[in-house]
Amino acid sequence: MSLVVQKYGGTSVADIERIRNVAKRVASTYDRGDDVVVILSAMAGVTDNLIQMAHEVTSSPERRELDVLLATGEQTTSALLAMMLQSMKYPAQSLLGYQAEVITDCSFGNARIVDIGAKRIKALLKDRNIVVVAGFQGCDPNGNITTLGRGGSDTSAVAIAATLKADVCEIYTDVDGVYTADPNICKKARKIDKISYDEMLNMASLGAKVLQIRSVGFAKKYNVPVHVRSSFNEEEGTMVVNENFGMEALIVTAVTHDKDQARITLKKVPDQPGVAEKIFSPIAESGIIVDMIIQNTRAGGQTDLTFTVPKADFAKALEIEAKIAKEIGAEDVFGDKNIAKVSVIGVGMKNHSGVATTMFGALARANINIMMISTSEIRISCVIEENYTELAVRVLHTAFGLDKEE
Ligand code: ADP
Ligand code: ASP
Ligand code: MG
Repeated sequence: MSLVVQKYGGTSVADIERIRNVAKRVASTYDRGDDVVVILSAMAGVTDNLIQMAHEVTSSPERRELDVLLATGEQTTSALLAMMLQSMKYPAQSLLGYQAEVITDCSFGNARIVDIGAKRIKALLKDRNIVVVAGFQGCDPNGNITTLGRGGSDTSAVAIAATLKADVCEIYTDVDGVYTADPNICKKARKIDKISYDEMLNMASLGAKVLQIRSVGFAKKYNVPVHVRSSFNEEEGTMVVNENFGMEALIVTAVTHDKDQARITLKKVPDQPGVAEKIFSPIAESGIIVDMIIQNTRAGGQTDLTFTVPKADFAKALEIEAKIAKEIGAEDVFGDKNIAKVSVIGVGMKNHSGVATTMFGALARANINIMMISTSEIRISCVIEENYTELAVRVLHTAFGLDKEE
């Protein structure tokens, strides 16, 4: 007998028929004799709709209230699945985040899990119940409802699996596993059978949204085996585990893209000590995460400075920089939301030269202009026009020999 944590994403619970499909899967795991804890997302599109509704009320909804609203998506699906299982004569009970004692910090909208009590989960399991927990939500030490950031149900699932010392955390989604590129845009992408936590962390941080990055961090810290697989078939998916698979032998192992990027440029900034601090301190104080930064040295003691932020923070960052530009005497500030970042990743890159040249050449041949470049030991990222994202992913996938055989 094993303890299995199963998480079903938005498309897997998108309507009543799909919830029925989930209930059947859960029931068959239970019938095998295993203990089952199910973590659910909201129905596909529901979280987006709730955000949109809040913005119809006010352009800047209070973050505490927004979390109260967003948490309802997962509350709905959890209750429906518990009811469905009960109607099939299985003992099941739903728990919201606070009932499962998912304690987070106070950062509404992007809260971090600090502790999970799980007393009720354990008690329910002891009596052979199927426990259905609403993902994506927790509660802060003051009893306020919090949410864990987009895609946060993955993190709920892995954190609960870690707390319960589950044998496996299965992440059921709408693709068959983790691929060498997003299979929805790159038909030649190949499924990866096994991937190490570190490789998965790199992919998640560079845009592969199949797992929220924090869930991979938890999995690594607590050594939780994660199985990413489809809720629509019985195929084996991808195991994310604490091993290395000789990936060094491959120079590039995956291509990722991230459309959640926007860039801001300050033009003709005085090129003096302390200016960068003035530009970035207020951004950091607002909790906005800056990704890439480029500074060009110019003649005449002035320089242009460009950086990227998540799209959701674009308006706020632009407003902050408009003020700063006046203070420091920059000539102009402008921004662009129609950008994306494409990256090639591979630990094997460390020992090889020429990866950047191959990447730039492939993009050039597809007539894709590179706006910004950043590199680390194991990845190269380019910012390009958003419209070319899919094309860029496909040409890079081919250029690095990752395409599956026809
Ligand atoms: P869920 O709602 O089940 O959590 P998500 O939409 O969050 O699903 O994540 C699954 C999606 O991740 C896939 O539909 C796919 O488009 C996308 N994706 C991006 N990169 C990858 C990748 N390298 N491998 C698999 N899926 C990926
Ligand atoms: N419903 C939330 C979202 O859409 C959390 C999740 O699905 O993981 O981001
Ligand atoms: Mg997801």
